[in-house]
Amino acid sequence: MSSFSLVGRAAVVTGASRGIGAATARALDDAGARVALVARSNSDLRALADELTNDPVVIVADLADGQSPNAIAEHALDRLGHVDVLVNNAGVGVRTDSIELDGVTVDQIHQVNVRSLLLLTTALLPSMIERGRGSVVNVSSVSARVGTPRRSAYAASKGAVDAMTRSLAMEYGPQGIRFNSVAPGAIVTAMWERNRAQPGVVEQIEMQTALRRWGTPDDIASVVVFLASDAAAYVTAQTIEVDGGMASTLDLYGGAV
Ligand code: NAD
Repeated sequence: MSSFSLVGRAAVVTGASRGIGAATARALDDAGARVALVARSNSDLRALADELTNDPVVIVADLADGQSPNAIAEHALDRLGHVDVLVNNAGVGVRTDSIELDGVTVDQIHQVNVRSLLLLTTALLPSMIERGRGSVVNVSSVSARVGTPRRSAYAASKGAVDAMTRSLAMEYGPQGIRFNSVAPGAIVTAMWERNRAQPGVVEQIEMQTALRRWGTPDDIASVVVFLASDAAAYVTAQTIEVDGGMASTLDLYGGAV
C-alpha cells in the first residue's frame, strides 16, 4: 500500500463545513480515512457527509464555546474508536484598523484560533499516545510570517498556532506523534468574499504571488493529506507555506523589470 494511503485511519477535521476544511475532509476521505466533520452547521456537514464514502461522522459544535473541545473529543472517540489524524482548520479573522480593536473581538479570535485548537489537541492526545502514533496538522496563515496590515489580532493568533505546533512536536515526538502546520496564502474561500469584490484586489494578490494565481482549497488539502500520511513520517515541527510563493518572495518592481 502507498505510504500516502490513509486506509484504516480515523481523522477529525474542524471547520469542515466549507472552504479549506471541506476540501481537506474530501481529500482525507479520498485517501481512505474515516473522517469526523466538525463545524456549527448541521445541514452543511450533512451535505458534505453525503458525498463521502468512508462512513463519515458529523459533530456539530461551536469552538467559541469553552466546553466544546472536550465534548468534540469525547464524541469523536466514541464514534471512531480512536483518532490518528487531527486537522485543526477552523479559524476566524477580522480585518480592521488595529486601533479600532476591542477586547471582545480579540478574545473571540483567540478562543477559536488558539484556545480551542490547543484544548481539542490535548483532549485527543491520550488516544494517540496509547497507540504510539498520530499526526496533528494545524492551519496557520501567511499572516504569521509576514506583516499583513489590519490583521494584528489574527496574525497574533496564527503566530501562536505555529509556536504551539513546534512546542507540542518536541514534547510528544518521543511518543510517535507529529505536529505540523500549513500556512495558506490567499485562498478563494468565504473568508475573502467581501475583499475580492473590491476593485483591484484580485489582481494585486496575483502580482504578489510567484505563481500569479490565487490558491484553491484543494491546494491546501493535498498538503494536509501528505502531512497526515506516513509519506511524511520524518516531518514534524514544521510550518509548510502553501501560498504560491507569496511569503518567501517580494516583487519589488511590480513585474516591471
Ligand atoms: P471559511 O470561513 O470558509 O471556513 C472557516 C471554517 O471554520 C468554517 O467551516 C466555519 O464554520 C469554521 N468555524 C469558524 N468559527 C467556528 C466556530 N466558532 N466553531 C466551529 N467552527 C467554526 O474560511 P477558510 O478560508 O476555509 O479558512 C480555514 C482556515 O484557513 C482558517 O483557520 C483560516 O484562518 C485559514 N486561512 C485561510 C486563508 C484564506 O486565504 N482563505 C489564508 C490563511 C489562512
